[in-house]
Amino acid sequence: MILTGSEPDVECPLCKGRETIAKRGYQHIMPGDWSLAECLRCGASFIAPMPDAGTLAKYYDDDYYGPGESKFIGPVERISWLFRFLRARVVKRLQPRGRILDVGCGRGVMLKVLKHWGYCVDGIELDNAAALRAEKNIGQPVYRSLEQLAANAAQRYEVISFWHSLEHLPDPHRALQITHQLLSPGGFLIIAAPNMASRPASLSGKNWLHLDLPRHLTHFDMLSLARFLEKEDYRIIRHSHFSQEYNPIDALCFIFELLGCGDLYPYRIMTSSHHGKDNVGFSAGKRLLSLVLLPPLTMFAIIGANVSSMAGSGSTSTLIVQKERGRGGIPGE
Ligand SMILES: [Zn+2]
Repeated sequence: MILTGSEPDVECPLCKGRETIAKRGYQHIMPGDWSLAECLRCGASFIAPMPDAGTLAKYYDDDYYGPGESKFIGPVERISWLFRFLRARVVKRLQPRGRILDVGCGRGVMLKVLKHWGYCVDGIELDNAAALRAEKNIGQPVYRSLEQLAANAAQRYEVISFWHSLEHLPDPHRALQITHQLLSPGGFLIIAAPNMASRPASLSGKNWLHLDLPRHLTHFDMLSLARFLEKEDYRIIRHSHFSQEYNPIDALCFIFELLGCGDLYPYRIMTSSHHGKDNVGFSAGKRLLSLVLLPPLTMFAIIGANVSSMAGSGSTSTLIVQKERGRGGIPGE
């Protein structure tokens, strides 16, 4: 059960506002009982109190990126590579050449494609195992933090991307300050993240797949994030609610929840089996029934997710903004 109440002693990690509402009683994919605070100024929700780095590290084990070269089961892994290729296409359409920084580059698959196309690329990845795989994929060192890169950066970037990584950072305000310094005037910033203000998020409540507690530290109202960036020296280029990579799986989890097969069952199927660990924990009969239902329900989920996206309320959304030439910046830079 989610309880609400005032939480006067916490500060919003995005806008630094101090007027918040507490929401307690969240259990999610990973073990633990978490409390969130919702900022009344910018609409962001965030874990309060923030877990320390040592606690968080426990939740980024080998299962997060997969212990080998893959994170998902075979066919899903191949589809995930296709989606990384499509991310590279988004960058190419914005900027046909230049220097690209991907914050939270994971295994560096998108950067590998862009480097093959002739871009100068850099990546940042906190998780050491994933960073080592990224270094192998792109054939160059990967930074472990924005601060480390900023201390060594000799030139600015034409594109900086946060593909589902900004929500993982304990201080997104600081991350956006550094990003602003690293971005060329006229450069593009891409932020893809779950949208806490979306209809799917409110329907799923504490079972919303993209809560991913405690790895997702801040949950943005993406429209408010767009307004925040607009005030801080950026011009909105596009705000897309369509994501075939993230939104249908969220809808599928919601449908299974309605059918009484909850606990984010479809997501757990995708990330289990070939790793030799059974993440699912269902009886054999229930698993068989769920697998039989999976194909038709997946089609239903894809349709439902896209209807929600067409209504401007995708479970995740992608913001593309352009840095204005010559105006100020984010306070505190
Ligand atoms: Zn705020």
